[in-house]
Amino acid sequence: MSPTAMPVREETKDDGKIETRLFINNEFVESISGQKFDVVNPYSEEVICSVYEALPEDVDRAVEAAEAALPAWSEMGAIARSAYYYKLAVLLEAAGQELAELESKETGKIAATYQEHIFGAKILRQFAGLALDLQGGTSLATPGHVNMVIRQPYGVCGAIVPWNIPIMAVVTKMAPALVTGNTLVVKSSEKSPLTALVLARLVKEAGFPPGVVNILSGLGNPAGAAMASHLKIRKLGFTGSGRTGRLIKEAAAKSNLKRVSLELGGKSPLVVFEDAELDQAVPSAAMSILYMAGQVCIASSRLYVHSSIADVFQEKLTECIKAMSANPPEGINPLSPEAKHSPQVDKAQFDNILRYLELAKESGGEILLGGKKQTDKGYFIEPTIIRNPDHNSRISKEEIFGPVLCFNTFEDEDEVMQRANDTEYGLFASVYTKDLSRALRIAKQFESGMVGVNTTSPMANALDMPFGGWKASGDGVDLSKAALDIWTQMKTIYIKI
Ligand code: NAD
Repeated sequence: MSPTAMPVREETKDDGKIETRLFINNEFVESISGQKFDVVNPYSEEVICSVYEALPEDVDRAVEAAEAALPAWSEMGAIARSAYYYKLAVLLEAAGQELAELESKETGKIAATYQEHIFGAKILRQFAGLALDLQGGTSLATPGHVNMVIRQPYGVCGAIVPWNIPIMAVVTKMAPALVTGNTLVVKSSEKSPLTALVLARLVKEAGFPPGVVNILSGLGNPAGAAMASHLKIRKLGFTGSGRTGRLIKEAAAKSNLKRVSLELGGKSPLVVFEDAELDQAVPSAAMSILYMAGQVCIASSRLYVHSSIADVFQEKLTECIKAMSANPPEGINPLSPEAKHSPQVDKAQFDNILRYLELAKESGGEILLGGKKQTDKGYFIEPTIIRNPDHNSRISKEEIFGPVLCFNTFEDEDEVMQRANDTEYGLFASVYTKDLSRALRIAKQFESGMVGVNTTSPMANALDMPFGGWKASGDGVDLSKAALDIWTQMKTIYIKI
């Protein structure tokens, strides 16, 4: 993603204006129990604030509000609904600085390159237009009939989102869900609930009717679990880990068989052929694993470089990663304009990566760079490169969600494609080559929902394209016209004439 300079302040303390309540029926309310949980700054390890925790009874309140709002909202028509999107998009853009600072505090994301507000606004405008295209079809194939298919909203829907893209994840669910006439209950991640509450404030300012969208802060269990098994939620969009995705599908199956769409994790391969433009491939590979310290679903965490260029590539990549993650003490605060490297989001994730780094030592590979924690305070891990770890080692197979890159070498195309596809995941894959035929041949062979040719960051300028995974990386898509199908159900009407 191309950085946009964003001036930011460096203080990390709560200024007392942070919203911590639940957003139900266009009001900020305390949870019924009054229970709260802490939000921790991963840079300073200090508590930013405590937010009200939704329990199942609060989920019920939000579902009731969404249910009450449904008739008027679904009957309003797409053009009228779209009008709110344009207002929200403008407000979101204007809130860029506030969101950048808050998200940097709660996730450790580098504030100066924050762009979620821009992407969110683009997505809202796109769906405002796309909604007008929501059409079914007609058939004259049956004698004496004009039959038709229409698409209708599910009703009350749910969205459960991860911590790493708190605004984007909510907007990618909300935009297709609402514009097609559904109402929504969102549960943000317990690791980053604060920016979602800013979005809630903007939803109200944009004039959305009460109950159309409700935003809850809460833990996976009980709040997320209560949504997954809620009998009145007819459809749920989930983004997060495969482990949680499986639990949600199970809960849906055991309750009302609600429709569930899943956007899950990945272990994305990046294949670099001998004719690749190294000046592009090297920084692209580096950025892909360094951005948000590897905590991105499409991070290219398995690199395959042709053996004829492997040593040169290794040298350039190591230099590039060192430069991109340089760590002067004053520059490491993610709020600082000088910041280059992010921390892991929390202690659990930090400890998890340290465990993977121990496994790396037993993986048969050589640790070329990094391999340990970076600072004593804050959850920073050194960017790490492991050359030729065993293909079947856990470090090669599992999603680490950290700045840990497996640097593999290969001899020929068939061999590398076999290895690249030998994974349970299938979210994103990329190839660097100047040979167009080869690029397209490889793109077709990758077992993944998305492929980058000479790019590892496809999202930045292609928010109009379907975003989704194959195999254990997901079921369904976010973004694009295809998402309208995900958030509506089909009805066939047989008309005898
Ligand atoms: P996570 O699965 O731990 O949590 C995601 C959400 O699920 C959170 O809101 C959490 O509270 C909730 N949850 C946890 N347990 C639950 C349960 N039993 N029932 C219902 N909800 C529950 O994931 P995370 O750590 O927040 O995010 C990282 C993961 O998300 C990575 O695997 C990453 O690849 C993936 N991700 C995927 C995409 C994509 O578009 N494919 C985008 C971003 C992140």
